[in-house]
Amino acid sequence: MDFTVLTLFPELIGSFFEHGMISRGIEKNLITGHCINIRDFSCDRHNTVDDRPYGGGSGMIMKIEPLQAAILHAKKRTPESQVILMTPQGNKFNQDKAHELAVKNKGLIFVCGRYEGIDERIYNRLVDEEMSIGDYVMTGGELASMVIIDSIARLIPGVLGSLESFQSDSFTGDRLEYAQYTRPEEFEGLTVPDTLLSGNHEKIRLWRKKSSLQRTFLKRPDLFIKSELTTDEKKILKQWCRELETFVRE
Ligand code: SAM
Repeated sequence: MDFTVLTLFPELIGSFFEHGMISRGIEKNLITGHCINIRDFSCDRHNTVDDRPYGGGSGMIMKIEPLQAAILHAKKRTPESQVILMTPQGNKFNQDKAHELAVKNKGLIFVCGRYEGIDERIYNRLVDEEMSIGDYVMTGGELASMVIIDSIARLIPGVLGSLESFQSDSFTGDRLEYAQYTRPEEFEGLTVPDTLLSGNHEKIRLWRKKSSLQRTFLKRPDLFIKSELTTDEKKILKQWCRELETFVRE
């Protein structure tokens, strides 16, 4: 997967590509990361990339010409890449979207806005999808693009090292991930559930299913009702109800 980020702050993105899981993915040739400075495509000797809005008002607007030139330059290198414009007005990004983008694309080009926004005419021909990371407004699209790249990159086979790592992730199949523990076995009176220490793989599997189901029910009821219960989940829920009844009787 090829990631290209068009930005006025290349240093922000450069450092992101140089650390952690992303840099390991790059070292293993599973992903590539490129950064393009939109200012390099400005059309005047002052390197202008923004101007005042027509009709007046506060703030500056990113000009269309440098953006178009930067996008076309990126497209020349990876013609099959989809162009994604970061905007709080776009489709809301989530885990399903991360899976979709990871599977369907060979490359993604992220356009990061700054200032009050971007000349509207960019939407006409140059952008395949507008994307938002949530209903809040940030000062620029760089953080948003990094959020999206990070969550897509970890889904690319080999980047995490273990396929299972993301198969149980929260939001996969509309469930949150089960509770996790590591050493020590006891911390300030808090212990690790016996089942996880038992070495019995089937019991551990069922314990994790139950934990995942309970957490989803309690923390994200909206997700809980989104998917039909599996046979295992129905059994687990019935058992949980019986446990609760005993607890209430006591
Ligand atoms: N005035 C614009 C509006 O109200 O829709 C917001 C402009 S914002 C200050 C500057 C840039 O930050 C945007 O062009 C976009 O690239 C990025 N941005 C801000 N919030 C974002 C979000 N929630 N998701 C994705 N990008 C965002």
